[in-house]
Amino acid sequence: FTGIFPGQLSIVVPVCNEQDSLIQLCLELQSGVRNAVSDYEIILIDDGSTDNSWKVIQELSHRESNVRGIRFRRNFGKAAALTAGMEVAGGTLILMLDADLQDDPAEFPALLQKIQDGYDVVNGWKQRRLDPWHKVYPSKVFNWMVGRMSGLMLHDHNCGLKLFRVEVAQEVQIYGELHRFIPVLAHARGF
Ligand code: UDP
Ligand code: MG
Repeated sequence: FTGIFPGQLSIVVPVCNEQDSLIQLCLELQSGVRNAVSDYEIILIDDGSTDNSWKVIQELSHRESNVRGIRFRRNFGKAAALTAGMEVAGGTLILMLDADLQDDPAEFPALLQKIQDGYDVVNGWKQRRLDPWHKVYPSKVFNWMVGRMSGLMLHDHNCGLKLFRVEVAQEVQIYGELHRFIPVLAHARGF
């Protein structure tokens, strides 16, 4: 996508013991999205970290006016963290990604292009070229099974990098392990 998306983007990041990656993540996010959207916010949800993640989040949110932090009393899991972030999100688009630098924010314009093409949900694909066979194989079986059962064939249902319209977040409720199935749940609702 080469133009500037007119709406606001809310970036929702679940954080559990990620003190060492948060600063770099925010830098990469700024450069990944800055030129593609007119306005964006970064919402970091501390899901009961026992390291210094919350301290880093506080520093970042004091320094950057578009960074916000939410802190859970204890660990509630990734789906709960994402839900809390989406509840306060003000954007018309939601970008979710993992805090551990496994998802590359530089891919954002490519995802945004698909939204511009009319899609409601765009799912990342971690190609795992460097992973050993005992990680690659179960992941292939998982994706194939989920695809067969749901009717939605994706390379990587489990990828933490997803971009979707806010209407999807409003309709699809996630808890437990359901964050893995946002595209499936959205597909079932006609998105
Ligand atoms: N995470 C979280 N709560 C948890 C476990 C993980 O918020 O109880 C966050 C974690 O900080 C990361 C994302 O969820 O940003 C994915 O976690 P992880 O890397 O452990 O998952 P995987 O890559 O194995 O799917
Ligand atoms: Mg990870």
